[in-house]
Amino acid sequence: MKDNLFYKKGLNFSCKRCSFCCGHSPGFVYLSHRDLMALCTFFHLSIKEFVETKCRWADYYYGAKVLALTEKKNFDCGLWENGCSAYEARPIQCSTYPFWSWMLEDKQTWDDCAKDCPGMNSGRLWSFEEIEKNKKAYDDNIPLKKEEVEELIRLEENKIN
Ligand code: SF4
Ligand code: SF4
Repeated sequence: MKDNLFYKKGLNFSCKRCSFCCGHSPGFVYLSHRDLMALCTFFHLSIKEFVETKCRWADYYYGAKVLALTEKKNFDCGLWENGCSAYEARPIQCSTYPFWSWMLEDKQTWDDCAKDCPGMNSGRLWSFEEIEKNKKAYDDNIPLKKEEVEELIRLEENKIN
């Protein structure tokens, strides 16, 4: 049964830096416009360079292709280098974990997810407001579609030339 108020009194979470959520199994780290620009600035790369060297296209809803980070052969995130190599500029999908809307659907889902994350249900108490803020940031962080990225690259090239 859905109970979206189960975290009204907050939830405990402190990352134990076990790295499980940055790899180990296939997955996608989707990139929004904000994520892309923050990572390009962080790595001092143009959009074109960043997309060509650190991104791939992921299948999304309604047949869309969206921007996502590359993944290594062992399924680690492409930016994982014994720690997140872009921690300060990491995507919203990463910084809002584990306060993702579908993980907060009900207590059972939250507890099931906690089996893969030793940081959940322990450590710092996050308030309802903090959780809601992260949840909203996650929901609002829409991945960039392939056509949108191509347009950004076109604009960037026009600016340079
Ligand atoms: S799985 Fe949880 S504890 Fe491990 S690195 Fe990710 S957030 Fe931190
Ligand atoms: S961008 Fe950084 S925090 Fe996010 S999955 Fe990759 S290595 Fe982990």
